[in-house]
Amino acid sequence: MKRRPTIRSEHALLWLLAVLLLPIPSFAQEKEKEEEAPPERRTVLPAPDRGENEGDGPFERLIIRGVTLIDGTGAPPRGPVDIIIEGDKIASIQGVGTPGVPINEDRRPGDATFELDATGMYVMPGIVDLHAHAGGVPKAPEAEYMYKLWLAHGITTVRGVGLGGFEWTLSEKERSAKNEIVAPHIVNYQRPGSGPDWDGDTNTPEGAREWVRYAAASGVDGLKLGSGRPEIMEALLDEANKLGLGSTAHLGQSGVAQMNAIDAARLGLTGMTHFYGLFESLYDGYDIQPWPVEMNYNDEQMRFGQVARQWKLIHPPGSDEWNALLDEFLELDFYLNPTMTIYSAGRDVMRARNADWHKKHTLPSLQDFYDPSRLDHGSYWYNWTTWDEVAWKKFYQVWMQFLNDYKNRGGKVTVGSDSGYIYQTFGFGTILELELLQEAGFHPLEVIRAATMHGAEEIFQAAGKPIEYGVIRSGLRADLLIVEENPLANMKVLYGTGAVRLNDETGKPERVGGVRYTVKDGIIYDAKQLLRDVEEMVDKQRRERAQKEAEITTSG
Ligand SMILES: [Zn+2]
Repeated sequence: MKRRPTIRSEHALLWLLAVLLLPIPSFAQEKEKEEEAPPERRTVLPAPDRGENEGDGPFERLIIRGVTLIDGTGAPPRGPVDIIIEGDKIASIQGVGTPGVPINEDRRPGDATFELDATGMYVMPGIVDLHAHAGGVPKAPEAEYMYKLWLAHGITTVRGVGLGGFEWTLSEKERSAKNEIVAPHIVNYQRPGSGPDWDGDTNTPEGAREWVRYAAASGVDGLKLGSGRPEIMEALLDEANKLGLGSTAHLGQSGVAQMNAIDAARLGLTGMTHFYGLFESLYDGYDIQPWPVEMNYNDEQMRFGQVARQWKLIHPPGSDEWNALLDEFLELDFYLNPTMTIYSAGRDVMRARNADWHKKHTLPSLQDFYDPSRLDHGSYWYNWTTWDEVAWKKFYQVWMQFLNDYKNRGGKVTVGSDSGYIYQTFGFGTILELELLQEAGFHPLEVIRAATMHGAEEIFQAAGKPIEYGVIRSGLRADLLIVEENPLANMKVLYGTGAVRLNDETGKPERVGGVRYTVKDGIIYDAKQLLRDVEEMVDKQRRERAQKEAEITTSG
């Protein structure tokens, strides 16, 4: 049943607080704000139709020339190769030489209907970001902003959890699949109870099953769950697995006492997102987190400050219990989608607040949303202290060790960003996740595998189907990113703002890298142009704000 309470000003704050109680408050809270907005701005605006000059292709026979290939499986880079793409599929990859020796032009594939000279550049599969939301009013009202930032960072598939509302996402997914818009592919996960035609009750096991059948019939790809009651989770997951729908869960603290990560994994959850429920599966001496007595979950500084204090409540790394949990996750084929990026401001808020990209690429309205506020989700810097940052730094050490141990056992860790909160701007936040995986102990090839092949595998897992993208291999979808610098040498070259390097000839620092081209469905996008489009959107909003302020000053 959908609840649509009427908003009255005296109730607005109470309602906002009530919304915060939901296991996944973020989008719900956004939705709440949408209801107060004028009708035309109630939701994030769908992307405009793709312009004539936006993207080249697809082509009958596109040849990308002279690249070094990082295929996504963990194989070492090799090159130079020419990649042949027919329509939206990779047709073949042909080695055309050996380093240090000129390429024999006669032995290269021919008959291209379009050639992209990428000599000396690196190519890898497009990134799969498994935790995405498409902004909303007021912070980022136009989907075009998110989509272009994602594509500009080589992200060719996002799993919306949810990306936007039920119908909105179905429609945007279809438009993207047809390349009517400039956007990554969209995988559409939705929350139980959502959907315009649903008026059942997901608080009963039978109702929960009915909703899953309704969602599947509507074309939804999977379930985004919270930490629900065990019998409801069981019904949802059992039905989803029967129908081949994937599932992921943010095992929110309000329900985690009865549904932690191992509980959910045993019920058939495909994978978890964030860390909620993980430490709770390893407590030593407690079963519920020993919160301070003044704890109030609706106080976000307490909520986000206290979670980090779990780092020393658990059976330590290497203990029997630690290893047993890793082993059981592995046995259950359970995916870990940590989204370390979205909590990283907790360990160094100044860095996150002043990141290089905010000036040109963060919308002023998004920046406002990030700033300390008791009402905006994730803006919990009411009085953020050294104590809080120390706790988060310790927390990351333990968390990263768990992820790395899981990877070393053969477990699958995937990439998700949850950008649009906590000072993490879309696209940039995803690349930060790659850097954090490297910090956790992943070799860059393992990082890239997490971001590509394993991400695709998480999506196809529940349906029991082979992946259709995520690896550069013939027959798979032609989704890839091309960058002038070697990402294995420095992951920072994937940031839209590039990496800073001292040019010894000029004696001046300069920016290198940034994805050069993103190819989606065989369509080539100039990633730098996508970033310029975003800069223009940011500039435009800034001008409009200045104008409004000027008007207020003159009229006041
Ligand atoms: Zn999220």
